[in-house]
Amino acid sequence: MNNDLHSRALSVIPGGVNSPARAFKSVGGNPLYADRAEGPYLYTRDGRKLLDFCLSFGPMVLGHADPDVVKALQEAAVKGTSYAVTTEAEIEMAELITGSIDIMDKVRLVNSGTEAVMTALRLARGYTGRNKILKFSGCYHGHTDSMLVQAGSGVAGIAAASSAGVTAEAAGSTLVCAFNDAAAVETLVREHAGDLAAIVVEPLAANMGLVLPEAKYLLRLRELCDEVGALLIFDEVITGYRLTFGAYANLCCAKPDLITLGKIIGGGLPIGAVGGKAEIMNHLAPDGPVYQAGTLSGNPLCMAAGLANLRKLQSLNPYSELEARCIRLTDAMKTAAAEKGIPVAIPRFGSMFSVFFRESEPRNFSEVMASDTERFVKVFHGMLDAGIYLPPSPFETSFLSVLHTDALLDKTVEAWEQALAKS
Ligand SMILES: *Cc1c(COP(=O)(O)O)cnc(C)c1O
Repeated sequence: MNNDLHSRALSVIPGGVNSPARAFKSVGGNPLYADRAEGPYLYTRDGRKLLDFCLSFGPMVLGHADPDVVKALQEAAVKGTSYAVTTEAEIEMAELITGSIDIMDKVRLVNSGTEAVMTALRLARGYTGRNKILKFSGCYHGHTDSMLVQAGSGVAGIAAASSAGVTAEAAGSTLVCAFNDAAAVETLVREHAGDLAAIVVEPLAANMGLVLPEAKYLLRLRELCDEVGALLIFDEVITGYRLTFGAYANLCCAKPDLITLGKIIGGGLPIGAVGGKAEIMNHLAPDGPVYQAGTLSGNPLCMAAGLANLRKLQSLNPYSELEARCIRLTDAMKTAAAEKGIPVAIPRFGSMFSVFFRESEPRNFSEVMASDTERFVKVFHGMLDAGIYLPPSPFETSFLSVLHTDALLDKTVEAWEQALAKS
């Protein structure tokens, strides 16, 4: 069955997938084919029931097919699925988001995290009248041209394209720097002071595995932006509503000018958002000169799912419990590895964690790359065989949902011990 789906997929979809992270390239073996998902479980077409720590790469914080989200979708669907006319649900969504994120007066809804970042960058350029954007190696901001870059020659400086099809011009307006290197970013910002529109950062870098910012690092970015008149953008597509009801920026002493959101705010439907102070947001069309649009933006199904998801999160307020469970899980995983003498670092924040087979928690992308990925691949498959689905790459972050109970986490630790033993 799976082999049949796999060969059909490969013959009509490039690489058999509609997003490359699904292809299992970095862990090997055939990718999964989903049948359905419910609660903490993903059910595959070849009959497996997997405890899901990937959770669609983050959005499914209530677990899959949450009954309230499903009901909201059903009720919305019969009323028509796109009007290109504003709905009250869009206003409610904007009220809920701006009401729960300190720095946001206004928010524009789009269809993906990629679009959110693309809009934030254009807005930062339009607002400041400057060209350059500084990003950090290993941070992911979607697949817009200027973000598909890697460090050029040297540790910090003008970027080179990391994808075919990205022009040297698009890459050349991006500066790249190592994460957590305050001296390097300071030099780079000052070098390009007059032309720097924004620094964009995942405040908790979660797309190279989880890499936490060092103390005061984000504050230093804030100071540097203020010094040269650039905007600070927190890309919170993963972290928004994952760690608190609102943005990570609510918890952080550094306050960004713009925040991008996605994933959780859509409750599993396609969405993105960019928001900030009215003074900046008013530069967007139709009031301002920075153009941005979308036929399906604020789509009623996405609003229904997103609102149901966010309202349930607001009333459950599961964040401290999620964190306590994640601490328990990662502590048990560390203990098990230590007992076997296997070096592992498991950075964690709230209900996000990742596994690096190396001695210490990585501080940046080059330290991330210096981990034992072969062991990760063995452990990933060992866990998968035992019914536990970690994200299929050594460089992704794992997530808990509110339905990952203590009993399920105990089973996860058992599977981890066995997978380690065989690695
Ligand atoms: C997922 C993600 C994106 C891209 O969002 P899409 O909806 O996949 O386009 C951008 N930034 C961060 C931090 C993300 O995690």
